[in-house]
Amino acid sequence: MTPRQTARSKTRTASRSSVTPVRSALRIKEVRETRDLHELLPPNSEVFINEFTDILSRMATGYWPTIQVPEGWYGVVASLHVALAEMSPGYQVVAIKKENDELFYLIRIPDNSHDMTSEMLSAISIARGRCRVLCEICGEPGDSILVCNNQEVRCTNHSK
Ligand SMILES: [Zn+2]
Repeated sequence: MTPRQTARSKTRTASRSSVTPVRSALRIKEVRETRDLHELLPPNSEVFINEFTDILSRMATGYWPTIQVPEGWYGVVASLHVALAEMSPGYQVVAIKKENDELFYLIRIPDNSHDMTSEMLSAISIARGRCRVLCEICGEPGDSILVCNNQEVRCTNHSK
């Protein structure tokens, strides 16, 4: 993370004297600080409102605060967040999304105050594994089936 961070802050400093990129890190930080985080919650996530607003408030500067996963994964994401926050109270979120049919939960430790522990890495990979067998709509156990040419996990009710 460190080399990228350094490159990023250099870019930001340089951009001040030239053309300001529309979505500069600075601007996104301002958006996060001026927006009500509740507006940025994913749809139908009321049950996990505490965990998800905490996640959004931890977005690393320069990353748009968003949780882009199917509803069926909300519970896994919420528990993963609680576990990670216990292991590393100040951890920051870089991205949480569905990518290549998998849970992508990218985090970083501010100021490199410690390394990602094997406990943290394994919590993330266990959560990814759980998402592979949960219905994307309701979170019940399911199987991978073809939905509109995409491979998706669906429970018996949602595979009809
Ligand atoms: Zn289902």
